Amino acid sequence: DPEAGAEAEALNAAQTAEAAEGFRAVHGGEPTGIWAAPGRVNLIGEHTDYNDGFVMPLALPHTTRVAAARRDDGVLGLHSADVSGGTVRLPAEKLAPGTADGWAAYPAGVVWALREAGLLSGREGGADLYIRSDVPTGAGLSSSAALEVATAVALNDLYGLGLAPERIARLCQRAENEFVGVPCGIMDQMASACCTAGHALHLDTRDLAARQVPFDLAAAGLRLLVVDTRVKHALGDGEYARRRAGCEEAAAALGVAALRDVPYGELDTALAGLADPALRPLVRHVVTENRRVEEVVGLLDAGDPRSIGPVLTAGHASLRDDFAVSCPELDLVVETANAAGALGARMTGGGFGGSAVVLVEAAGAEEVGAEVADAFDAAGHPAPRLFEAVPSTGARRLDG
Ligand code: ADP
Ligand code: MG
Repeated sequence: DPEAGAEAEALNAAQTAEAAEGFRAVHGGEPTGIWAAPGRVNLIGEHTDYNDGFVMPLALPHTTRVAAARRDDGVLGLHSADVSGGTVRLPAEKLAPGTADGWAAYPAGVVWALREAGLLSGREGGADLYIRSDVPTGAGLSSSAALEVATAVALNDLYGLGLAPERIARLCQRAENEFVGVPCGIMDQMASACCTAGHALHLDTRDLAARQVPFDLAAAGLRLLVVDTRVKHALGDGEYARRRAGCEEAAAALGVAALRDVPYGELDTALAGLADPALRPLVRHVVTENRRVEEVVGLLDAGDPRSIGPVLTAGHASLRDDFAVSCPELDLVVETANAAGALGARMTGGGFGGSAVVLVEAAGAEEVGAEVADAFDAAGHPAPRLFEAVPSTGARRLDG
């Protein structure tokens, strides 16, 4: 599509110019380069990542940009156009968990992780960064990984480290786990670092084996809508920890390293063998969800993206009924979208709020979006935000 290509190029040029200008205004001098890393949505494979299972994210067109230049005095100068409070300056050599708070912990954590890995030493890691993003924060679209990965690819080039995308993803996950203190899996960083346009990333979270699976929505006359419910129910964090502990307990009771090791064909036997009935629905969700990822991969490889709709909706039912991580707002999106003619829909992300994805015929997308907005209005919920998820490119240098 030459029109879409020209549009993308124009956006690229505008974002590059904006980042360079922002850098000059904040840090003085010219940036050495401008790098970008996207947010993501997960198409299928939810609550499987901490069970050594399968996930299938795609990168969004929404990115975090980093304009950057090295500093040889060891100072890390961090400025985000998206938050107030000015520039944060930290000595790269003295970084340790707890030495940076708030948003600056994400990029500082990346420098720390690179240093911990022995990739930078002494005053290396000093740099000026100007950050600007259009990835919505806190909507479950992984603005945090976009920030980490954009920072990492910038430093990778500035210091000539030659790191592969998988290595970058691992270092960014370590930054978020240990420096920021968020116990996230590897999916978000792998998606931001490794996705390619027109594909979803089939990822085995056990060994990071990854494959690009064709998912060219535009060519198929389809659209994937992201509906951000804009709610975040407070019980989310504690419930996440409880689900995780329950899965570990079930794996131990079944004598496997992780629930990923329970074959779909042996699900009934496994369920019957669990003494604690409360663990059964957790196991059923994880095992059937891994199976659904395989189903979706098979259908996309066969060139049949329409037929993944019912699999997405079945995934939602499993998260709602078995894993119990949905909420009324997410259920309303799925019910309304499907009633309005969507091919399928599901909550995406950890649950208890955040976003849902809706697969629709391109011709019906607007009507489905309008019906969902009306239903939220009628139910007295705040208006949802709608985006289109065009499967896009992972982290890259924007200029030169
Ligand atoms: P999500 O990753 O789903 O968007 P998180 O809570 O994991 O939500 O990460 C959001 C946090 O990441 C923000 O609160 C902020 O600290 C940091 N962050 C993300 N994008 C930016 C940005 N452009 N500038 C500064 N901080 C950012
Ligand atoms: Mg995040």
